[in-house]
Amino acid sequence: MRPNKTQLKFILILGVACLVAGLTILLLGGDQRYGGREFIGWERIDYGIPFLILGFVLTRYSMRKLSLSIGASSASTFVCPKCGTPYEGSGIGQFCPKCKIKLEPLRGFYKRHPEHSSESSEDDE
Ligand SMILES: [Zn+2]
Repeated sequence: MRPNKTQLKFILILGVACLVAGLTILLLGGDQRYGGREFIGWERIDYGIPFLILGFVLTRYSMRKLSLSIGASSASTFVCPKCGTPYEGSGIGQFCPKCKIKLEPLRGFYKRHPEHSSESSEDDE
């Protein structure tokens, strides 16, 4: 299962929260404002570092996935609607070198052109 953008943002917030919690334990010995216990000495390391690592992993993971999904939408694959050849492209306005017609974004292409989706479709034109 691939997490969607909302879930990734949630993971990012969770990661930042873990980083903050880890730093709080490490530097301040915990936050006693909410009735939490105080971490003393090595306890700060023992409880703070795992939070920091978890937070770092979560933030890194979600930021990478988020930037990937942003990058994928700006530079994506385009398909020629006539011959069905895919081309890697960065924008609209590219033309198929064979058919000299405008390429279409791959996203949603097979919905708009169901004739390309299966090789075994009958020729009923
Ligand atoms: Zn073509």
